Amino acid sequence: MLSKRLSRIEESATIRMAHIAKQLQDNGKGILNFSLGEPDFKTPEHICEAAKQALDIGYTHYTSSAGVDELREEIAKKIHKENKLDITMENVIVTPGAKQAIYELMMSVLDEGDEVILLDPAWVSFEQAVKLAGGSPKWVKRVEEAVKYESLEAAVSDNTKMLILNSPNNPGGYVLSEREQREIADFAIEHDLIVLSDEIYEKILYGRKHVSIASFDGMQERTAVINGFSKEYAMTGWRIGYAVAPTEITKGMLKIQQHSVTCAPSISQFAALAGLRSSQNCVQEMVSEFKKRRDVIVKRLNDMGLQCVNPEGAFYAFINTSGHGGDVEFTERLLKEAYIVVTPGSAFGLAGKNYVRLSFAASMESILEGMDRIEKLVSYLR
Ligand code: PMP
Repeated sequence: MLSKRLSRIEESATIRMAHIAKQLQDNGKGILNFSLGEPDFKTPEHICEAAKQALDIGYTHYTSSAGVDELREEIAKKIHKENKLDITMENVIVTPGAKQAIYELMMSVLDEGDEVILLDPAWVSFEQAVKLAGGSPKWVKRVEEAVKYESLEAAVSDNTKMLILNSPNNPGGYVLSEREQREIADFAIEHDLIVLSDEIYEKILYGRKHVSIASFDGMQERTAVINGFSKEYAMTGWRIGYAVAPTEITKGMLKIQQHSVTCAPSISQFAALAGLRSSQNCVQEMVSEFKKRRDVIVKRLNDMGLQCVNPEGAFYAFINTSGHGGDVEFTERLLKEAYIVVTPGSAFGLAGKNYVRLSFAASMESILEGMDRIEKLVSYLR
């Protein structure tokens, strides 16, 4: 019954792990779930209040497909202020989550057989979205050290249409330096590539500064920035994200949006507007809590002999399991012997096969308990 297109893609490994965790939790096991990619904080009160107000005034219908003008304008203002891009709301499309923006972008620009360069490891949905749109992923290793120009050159062909970046990175926790981004930008210009720059973790940074590749000379006209409200405002369930791109691309995406989801939820758009227009202290509070957790995790892991590069952004520790088995083996042992759920690195590409991703979007209490359990397991494995 199923299409050939569907057979190209796989179920989401991160959602599968979350499902296993949920089942075990329901069975009463003392499961600690570090597989989730969503902040454990509540959506800030003033954003919820704006949503309640939207309900009270009957703001519960379809909106214009690309999103309400006020929100698109506010996003354009934000991008102009922070990334110094000269844009208008025509460059902005509001979508039900960043994920939908990514799908619409792929469907708008890729043809069968087009190749897309992905930095390995990469967040799980990029590869599947590329394949669903008929594209073919080409991997370039970028783990623990900067991407090499020669590796990019080795991956490019006449069929390459797009390159995907995600900084701050899920799962790697790295933030691309300006120098590395400049090199990638030069490469994209030289080979006339579209760049998808997923900047959804742009505010979740621990001392580093976010620079959008779209702000480099010659890049705005070839870059689609993907962003959303899920992470920085803890709004995963509200399904609200956006893309900022050349109008040719936003218009293409709009056609797909009109015939699929129509628009992002009206109430969520109203709430997101409140998020952008209000004080950003709520974001800073979350980030400082994430930083405390990151510091504890990295110190504890390194003390017990597990290597983990200090995450500079996002909320994932990418732990090297070398010496303790491969990623799948280590994940299974954590699950069976310590009741801990993490995601095996190979879910994110080949380069992750000796890594596991541990999300610190979990309470400090469970992190401390988790570190104790991992330490016990690791000393037993030694
Ligand atoms: N991009 C990246 C890199 C992500 O990690 C996620 C969520 N895990 C998304 C996009 C999807 O975000 P949204 O909830 O806005 O669809």
